[in-house]
Amino acid sequence: MTTIRAIRSKSVVTPEGIRAATVHIRNGAIEAITGFNDLPSGKHVYDAGESVVMPGLVDTHVHINEPGRTDWEGFETATRAAAAGGVTTLIDMPLNSIPATTTAAALETKRTAARNKCWVNVGFWGGVVPGNPGELRALHRAGAFGFKCFLVPSGVPEFAHVGEDDLRAALPELAALDAPLLVHAELLGPIDEATKKLTKSDPTKYRTWLLSRPPSAETEAVEMMIRLAREFKVRVHIVHLSSQLSVPLIRRAKREGVRITAETCPHYLFFASSSIRNGRTEFKCAPPIRDLQNGKKLWAALGNGAIDFVVSDHSPSPPAMKCLDTGDFFRAWGGIASLQLGLPAMWTNLSGRKDSLKHLVRWMCSEPARLAGLEKHKGAIAIGYDADLVVWNPEKRFIVRPNMLQHRHKLTPYVNEPLRGAVEATFLHGEMIYDRGRFLGTPQGALLRRGER
Ligand SMILES: [Zn+2]
Repeated sequence: MTTIRAIRSKSVVTPEGIRAATVHIRNGAIEAITGFNDLPSGKHVYDAGESVVMPGLVDTHVHINEPGRTDWEGFETATRAAAAGGVTTLIDMPLNSIPATTTAAALETKRTAARNKCWVNVGFWGGVVPGNPGELRALHRAGAFGFKCFLVPSGVPEFAHVGEDDLRAALPELAALDAPLLVHAELLGPIDEATKKLTKSDPTKYRTWLLSRPPSAETEAVEMMIRLAREFKVRVHIVHLSSQLSVPLIRRAKREGVRITAETCPHYLFFASSSIRNGRTEFKCAPPIRDLQNGKKLWAALGNGAIDFVVSDHSPSPPAMKCLDTGDFFRAWGGIASLQLGLPAMWTNLSGRKDSLKHLVRWMCSEPARLAGLEKHKGAIAIGYDADLVVWNPEKRFIVRPNMLQHRHKLTPYVNEPLRGAVEATFLHGEMIYDRGRFLGTPQGALLRRGER
């Protein structure tokens, strides 16, 4: 680990714009932003040259799975992947670990499991499941940043999905706490109806999987959540929005003052259903990756603010659970591993577009920080903000190879994809923790609690 007093670059991304500057660091925070040649005396200056210096990414949608399913992914490997991908803060989802984070005691179990293992800052979402409204206040007080729920089966038995009645019991609590509710927005009705028509279809065909999760499953769920957000005056956030048909619903609700936000993920923007070959279950996620036109509309929705930001939904599993031997999309675990690759996956398509760096920082740093209530000290290069920074080369191209990946199992749909934009160095609280493939020192990431700095 190397403590840095200043970082300079020809391309520092600040809220006021992109410029040549020196970022001065003191006690882990940004002390000043001065001219390029205005350097502190002595050593400990990192010269990033032409590479971009921007805030470390904030990824509010990560499944770490420890304790309980650490063989899927754990704090050490996931946060290494984060550091190598320029992500300096992540918020862990409340499911796939055992226990699920649905009580304050479970949150403490998770924090204990995470101690001394995290290379980047880690916070935790709590979960809303049937029967736990009585736990929500204590979970929130214990530091959960907000709450996540599913409207369809989550894939693991200990995190049951909720129906409208369950939500009606939980939402008054969340409104009183002013905590956001993150929602996996798909409803079972349209999925069951679509699946009934597919009993004779080949389960190894991507098209069969795609048809089984129709856009209407998402739009009907989004409509329900808008209705409930309006009625309970609660903050609702739609996770991994996949269908362009959901976009106008969200745009209209925002215009009408409903407290709703939405995220999408790099894989919905980078891949298109037409290029997913049959049996390639590493592409399986729910809701599914849709067609090229749909992806273009999601990009447009990001551009006009209907979709607020982009996070990974990093959700790995052991390769055997992906059923690559049979290629059966219906038996395979749904989840895409991509924590390390979000920045280049986005940049590969953004590069050369107008205001591309400004958009990248808004979508991957400042707006996800806002969802978690961290926007006053993370997600921007500004005086007083935490010196969590990433240095990356926007011109460099590379091909994704499994041996580059830091997460536990190297299976990801990005393998062999040519990408643009390479992370060179990552700084946490002003310390260099990652330098061109090397990790420096020991894990120093903070375990974050809501409301604490
Ligand atoms: Zn997820």
